[in-house]
Amino acid sequence: MYARARAVLPGGNSRTAVYNSPYPIYAAAGQGCRVVDLDGTSRLDFLGNSTTLVHGHAHPEIVAAISEAAARGTCFGLPTEAEVLFAEALCARSDAYERARFTSSGTEAVMMAVQAARAHTGRPKIAKCAGSYHGAYDSVAVNNDGSGSLISHSHTAGMPQAVLDNTIIIPFNDPEGATEVLRAHAGELACALIDPVPWRSGLVPATAEYIAALRAVCDETGVLLVSDEVGSFRAGFHGAIDAIGGVADLTVLGKVIGGGMPIGAVVGKAEVMAVFDPSEGKPKLPHSGSYNANPVSMSAGVASLRLLTEAEWKRIGGLGEQLRDTMRKTIADNGLDWEVNGVESLFRVVTGTVPDSSVNSARLGHLLFQELLLNGVLIGDSGLGCVSTPMGQQEVDTYAEAFDAAVGAVVEQARA
Ligand code: PMP
Repeated sequence: MYARARAVLPGGNSRTAVYNSPYPIYAAAGQGCRVVDLDGTSRLDFLGNSTTLVHGHAHPEIVAAISEAAARGTCFGLPTEAEVLFAEALCARSDAYERARFTSSGTEAVMMAVQAARAHTGRPKIAKCAGSYHGAYDSVAVNNDGSGSLISHSHTAGMPQAVLDNTIIIPFNDPEGATEVLRAHAGELACALIDPVPWRSGLVPATAEYIAALRAVCDETGVLLVSDEVGSFRAGFHGAIDAIGGVADLTVLGKVIGGGMPIGAVVGKAEVMAVFDPSEGKPKLPHSGSYNANPVSMSAGVASLRLLTEAEWKRIGGLGEQLRDTMRKTIADNGLDWEVNGVESLFRVVTGTVPDSSVNSARLGHLLFQELLLNGVLIGDSGLGCVSTPMGQQEVDTYAEAFDAAVGAVVEQARA
């Protein structure tokens, strides 16, 4: 399949994150917490489409919601009841979510949140944390490589200098450092964009002190605080920033809220969200899109939120904690300096070194990914993983055994 793909797709690929050397395995089907590849091999899916599938694959209630919506028509040049139902369900999750606006991806939702902040404040620049990933929009794709560098840079050639000049980098989890940079640029800044649990820079949560410092400097300077929780929404039942003890002006959501269908949302203060309001004449920020609030995605989203009760959210968070603990034990037993980070149902293994071996961290991460595949478990090759609601103790135990075997095999290969 990969050979065929190479003939028609660049490098056989449509999504950088799913490429794996020497070639990716192809998904044929998924059911619950298992995914079956084209060779017929079934594995436990702890990747869940980069933490999207909180209810696993093909959950019957979500499939029914999608099927019923699709049978009524997949898209219209008119608004639908489904978007009202989904907005009601989302706004019920947090007092900070006063209004909602929908897109088809997290990337688009981040872009609209940034543009909303610009339209509301009339200021051009944005600030973001060193290393954090926020999707493909130019303005936020600056310094998204996980590094701590505070100099605006891009890994893609030809990025306009104006984009780099208009994205200011603040240090993560450094309240004084971030406050200083934000104050220095305050008059030109529309927003400070943060991910409260940024996966690319290691899935270590922001501290309460850091969030409080950002909130204070934003209040002082009129800069909007935008919380990108496309991935980190799992960190709190009322969202990630709420779990840490803060409130954002705008929050960006995606992934789990859509039940596996393409989704993105900007939610937040009515006063700021008013930039999208067309009812009083041309809005400050016109925002169209042929698939905005697509009724199939909206219907899957309603089902996904209904199924993610507080009890279920807590249960999978507990399983996540168990997983992190058992992985840390395996790592310690093998005398390794690797870290396991994460909160609630999210985890990330950050490979370090293997004593008496010169194999680097990235290569070790790749070997771990491959060894887990051979042991019947899928995680991301960045070490990212998550627990989903179809899982229970049995899956956590199976994962722990596979992780143990995989780490042993990686250490052996690294020393060979
Ligand atoms: N922001 C964050 C924090 C993300 O993790 C992602 C996706 N991994 C995005 C934005 C982009 O979302 P999408 O892939 O739906 O475009």
